[in-house]
Amino acid sequence: MKSITITPLKPGSVRLEEVPAPVPAPGQTLVKLLEAGVCRTDVEIFDGLYGEPPAGQASLIMGHEALGQLENGDLVVPMVRRSCGGCANCLDGNQDMCSTGNFLERGIKGLDGMLCEYIAEYPRYLVPIRPEARPYAVLAEPMSVVAKGIRQAGLIQGRLAWAPKRALVLGAGPIGLLATMALRILGWETVTVARKPAGSLKAALAAECGALYVSSAETPVTDLPAKYGLFDLVFEATGSPDVAFDCLGAAAVNGVVCLTSVTGGDARKSVPAARLNRDLVLGNRVVFGTVNASRKDFEDGLVYLERINAAFPGLLNRLFTSRVPLEKAAGVFSGQAEEIKTVVEIAAA
Ligand SMILES: [Zn+2]
Ligand SMILES: [Zn+2]
Repeated sequence: MKSITITPLKPGSVRLEEVPAPVPAPGQTLVKLLEAGVCRTDVEIFDGLYGEPPAGQASLIMGHEALGQLENGDLVVPMVRRSCGGCANCLDGNQDMCSTGNFLERGIKGLDGMLCEYIAEYPRYLVPIRPEARPYAVLAEPMSVVAKGIRQAGLIQGRLAWAPKRALVLGAGPIGLLATMALRILGWETVTVARKPAGSLKAALAAECGALYVSSAETPVTDLPAKYGLFDLVFEATGSPDVAFDCLGAAAVNGVVCLTSVTGGDARKSVPAARLNRDLVLGNRVVFGTVNASRKDFEDGLVYLERINAAFPGLLNRLFTSRVPLEKAAGVFSGQAEEIKTVVEIAAA
């Protein structure tokens, strides 16, 4: 079968490669892949920053956001992370909360991904998709990350009587825009901040679901509280370590900051440490990180997508800024800076 393969940690080694189709092990089912999404994680793997091949292999099939189909025609989205088999969270089905670090992730860490024609998978890692969701279901994985962030914020805020009304979303990539749309569906007043100017597609997508879009080129993140007030939830998804610290000052008393950016490198930064610490302490503020997602988050994410699609018809489709066939997908990674979501078309349903 055709696959987009990389030799991990070797920049520029991505290629279209013919590999043997997987043979399902007992208990596994064959999944024909229809579409896959490309995200910043894939670009970082492309750049050789990380990625790990399956044990005993030198290369890794890329791709962790996909929509597939079973032999009976049912649509499914495969989850990304696989249990380490040894910690209480993984044994509970919450491998996104793995405590050992020995988990595997499709297309990222120790397990072949989904930029290819077929995978063999256990049903417990396949999330069913309704046929009506076919046009946007490839967004289930990034939306699961958003759903987990919002759900975790709610669980953490179970510590007090919390009646959130205002959210700040930093970043207008797929995660930032999906978070904006989900928070609007929840009825929150939402301010979305990103670098692109007011007339950009990203600004338009945020505005069309009722968020206020602010360009950080005009209002630096540290100036946001003075201009727009403080926020019950701050959702950071810019990929910038600077913003991850600059946004801490935007949380209201009893507020919560959710960090989702996986920042590479070892950048340093000077911060107003005394003020930040004092505000965290005196305001009962919480800062937490979130990664990956559980089955519940995929399911919640699909409900968000369905509600967004009903409330704002056509809006999700506009996140798909380019579509390429699998045969050409090795060439998409270097041109992602101007894209929102590239979809790789693998097969027709
Ligand atoms: Zn991704
Ligand atoms: Zn584990």
